Formats: sequence, C-alpha cells, structure tokens
Amino acid sequence: MTSQRGFTTDIVHADRAFGSEDGSVHKAVHIATQYGFDKVDDLIGVFQGTKKGAYVYSRQGTPTTAALEAKLTGMEAGVGTVSFATGMAAICAVFLTLLRSGDHLVASRAVFGNTNSVFGTLGDLGVAVSRVDATDVANVASAITPATRMVFVETLANPGTQIADLDGIGRLCRERGLLFVVDNTILSPYLFRPGTVGAGLVIHSLTKSICGHGNALGGAVVDTGEFDWTGYPNISEAYRKGDARQWGLTQVRKKGLRDMGATLSSQHAHAISVGAETLALRMVQTSAAALQLAQFLEAHPAVGKVYYPGLPSHPQYERAQKHFRAPGWLLSFELRNGDDCLPFVDRLQLAVKATGLGDTRTLVIPVAHTIFWEAGAAVRAEMGIADGMVRLSVGLEETTDLIADFKQALEG
Ligand SMILES: *Cc1c(COP(=O)(O)O)cnc(C)c1O
Repeated sequence: MTSQRGFTTDIVHADRAFGSEDGSVHKAVHIATQYGFDKVDDLIGVFQGTKKGAYVYSRQGTPTTAALEAKLTGMEAGVGTVSFATGMAAICAVFLTLLRSGDHLVASRAVFGNTNSVFGTLGDLGVAVSRVDATDVANVASAITPATRMVFVETLANPGTQIADLDGIGRLCRERGLLFVVDNTILSPYLFRPGTVGAGLVIHSLTKSICGHGNALGGAVVDTGEFDWTGYPNISEAYRKGDARQWGLTQVRKKGLRDMGATLSSQHAHAISVGAETLALRMVQTSAAALQLAQFLEAHPAVGKVYYPGLPSHPQYERAQKHFRAPGWLLSFELRNGDDCLPFVDRLQLAVKATGLGDTRTLVIPVAHTIFWEAGAAVRAEMGIADGMVRLSVGLEETTDLIADFKQALEG
C-alpha cells in the first residue's frame, strides 16, 4: 500500500482500495466466527494451504482485521502485519514464537513495565535476557553473545523518554544478522518509521496513539521487509515456503494468533481504524501542546527536571530532531521539592488521574506509586524513575486550558 500520496490520504481511502462492499466507505464489521464453503474441496484447500486468502475461523482474523492490518502495513511502509487483542499479546507473540530455549535477547532496560515483566517469564522458559542502556549502541554491542538472536528497544521510552541509539543499533543488527525489534507505540508511524533505521519488526499497542480515543484495546506486529528470514534458524520447516519476506509473520500468525488465541475482534479493529484516520492530526496537535507545556514547566520555579525530547535540555534532543517528525505527547517531570507530588496531582482539575496513554484527554499519573510500584525500588532506580516523577499523556484540550490547569495546581 506504500504510495506517493500523503499519510492520511492513504489511510482514509484504504478501505475502498481494499475492495468496497456495497460502496461502503468503511470496511464492514464482520462478526461471523466461521466461514462456509460451497465445495468441500475448497474447505480442504484452506487447511492444506492450496487455497490462499480465504477466511475459515475468526481466531486467525476476519476481513475487518485484515483491512486494519493493510492500513498498518502501509503506515509503516512494510510488507505485512498481524493484529492482536492487545499490545502485550503482540509483544508476547513475537518473543514466544521467534525465540527458543537457549537463545539470548538483548533488550533496552527502559521499557514498558509489563514488557519488563515478560523478560522474567522468558528467563523462566530458558531464554536469557540482557537488559542494557540502549541509548548507546556500545552497550548493546558488548552484550551480544553467539546465542543472541534479537535486539529489542522502544523508540521513546515511558516514562523517562529515553531514545535508543536507533541508527547505531540498526547498523549493528544488520552487520551481525540479528533481528531488530522496535516497539513504536508511543511515537506511531506518523512521527517515526523504525524501518528507516533497519528494524525488521515493529510492534504497536494500537490502544495508544493509533486508536487514540481510549475506547479499544489492540496490538500489532508489522514486518518492514528489512530482515532476511532465510538466515533465521527459528522458523519452522512448515513456514519456510513461498515469499521469504512472509516467513516470520506466518510463524507469528500461526503460532501467536491461531495457537495462543489473543485475537483482535472486528468491532475493536473498526474502532482502531476510525481512530487511525486522525492519527496525523492528533500527533501534530498533541506534540505542539506537549512542547508548550514542557517549556512552561521547565521555566516554572516549582518544577525540577522535565523529561521531554522536544526540549534542548533532553539528553537525546539531537536524535529526536534527526529522526522524529515531532516529539510526541509523552512528557514526565519532577517537582523541585522532591518526593511529594501527590497533593499537586490532586489539585489538577482537567488532567484525568488515570493510567493509560494516547487518549484525547490528558492523563496524569504519579509513576513510582502506581505503574512501577510492583517493579520495586531497584528497577525504578535503574530506569531513572524518581519517587516524585509525574507522567503526562497530553491530550487534545486547548493548550491554554492545559497550561492554566498546571499553573493553578503548581501554585495552589
Ligand atoms: C501500553 C503499551 C504496551 C502494551 O499495550 P496494551 O495494548 O496495553 O496491551 C506495550 N508497549 C508500550 C510502549 C506501551 O505503551
């Protein structure tokens, strides 16, 4: 679906290009769990792989999820996509279907909290995980062993906003023949395409930027076409057939979706597709608002550190300027008086005290007391999470209203 047309033009016309039903400008919400065939030979053909592109049972997808997958493939300029019920299902599918006992994974230590928890599960299953500071490729390089198969980073880490050495790690992975997997949830393909730095697989929690309205969970794995699967030892013989660019995703779909079953519903795929139509507009607006709010906070005497990649004070500011179309909606900060951010958070009127990210509403959460509580003090210290850190997911409210709310809460 890659074309010369604009990002949003492609998305809003994708359903018609995909084959319109009755002239419908949206792909229909297909609710059937099974698909019938006139001839038993056709039913057999689906199971034996001779009849391609037919639906048989919705655990492996529906025409509605396929339409969303086609849009995501276009958005990342990739070669294919598999959708899942949640972002965590997509992440687990990649790790559990593409790694085997005895393999080694090098991962950024600044990752989503639940992803960090999955690393523990991988360890229990015999996959060794090295967690490194991925803002410098040298740390990734020195962790690599002969058993290393995969390197995993996020484009913009939550809540500390660290930016991995994307270029450097991409080059390193290409030289060593390693699969480079990037979780691009926070930025979205409008702000950055990991394929441009050599990532082989891109993961999304569709729940966040892409759906964007806090009304549907979803996840996806996109193959960028950058990785050569013929050299990857963990692809089963059964999936080493046909176009080699599809081998990896075929295994992820068969084992991760058919066997593990965390399937995206058609209803949620539709909600996510509608959200995706305004992705570019929302990313432009929320990035502009977050930058203004970050500048306001950095200049305010009650505020200590501000973590936002659009500020020149950010350690990877140059990297963000080079790679990202805009710095995004994720912003964290600490109050100058240290630990006690809770009365301040309570004084906020507009920002919703809630977990979650990438909503139309601004969301605020004290990080150490909540999402990183279970991880413990040692992991928080390693990830650069201070006890008084406050995380914001900046929404679509008018920027003047947002700044006024933060001003009264800081000065109240
Ligand atoms: C939220 C999130 C996930 C998990 O997604 P769910 O849809 O909530 O399961 C994974 N990675 C990142 C970076 C996230 O922010």
